[in-house]
Amino acid sequence: MKESLTLLIKLQTVDSELMELEEALGDLPTQVKHLSRDLETVHQVTGEKEARVQEVEKEKRSLRAKIDDTQVQLKRYKDQLLVVSTNRAYDALTTEIDGADKMIEDGEFHLLELDEEDQRLTDELKEDGLKAEAMGATLGTQQQQLKEALASTEQRSKALGKKREKLVTRIKPRFMSSYERIRAAREGRAVVNLSRGSCGACYNRVPVQRQMEIKAMDRIIICDGCGVILYWDSD
Ligand SMILES: [Zn+2]
Repeated sequence: MKESLTLLIKLQTVDSELMELEEALGDLPTQVKHLSRDLETVHQVTGEKEARVQEVEKEKRSLRAKIDDTQVQLKRYKDQLLVVSTNRAYDALTTEIDGADKMIEDGEFHLLELDEEDQRLTDELKEDGLKAEAMGATLGTQQQQLKEALASTEQRSKALGKKREKLVTRIKPRFMSSYERIRAAREGRAVVNLSRGSCGACYNRVPVQRQMEIKAMDRIIICDGCGVILYWDSD
């Protein structure tokens, strides 16, 4: 039993250090993930707006050409009106002229609408561009920080990972599963030392007789208060 307990204590030491390494990264990994996703959204929206600007430009060109053609046509109708000889032809021409006038008026109004849309999109794209630039700069800094933080802990965490693997193979499966279960329930701490006669996790007082049993390491002793495995820290 002594050996099993000793191995569990060692395993906890390794796991605690691994947790510390992870905590040292803070919420940087999450920040990087969220910012990358937000930036991607901005890029996507920008792409859609740029496509719409192209469409608007095309619509404006074709509408202008149509208005120009109609104006040429209108002038021709008006010239013909001067030389028309019958009432019937006169009426037909005035109908054409009215139609052309209306087309030009509607067309010019729609051109104004397209101009407004064009302007709005251009302004928004400018804003989005500045926003994306700022986000990109922050993301770059964060990614660099994360890279450096990972690089500084990588070697240590690899070494700890190997040490953990070796320890796990030497621990009996039933102890291992208890360990993992307690660890999951107690924020990563399954094996905790006695601290001045109390549980080091919940500070529940441990009777002297029990303290002696813990020190003897003949069996696994669980804290009545929080359920962690207690051990005697000789230091
Ligand atoms: Zn406790």
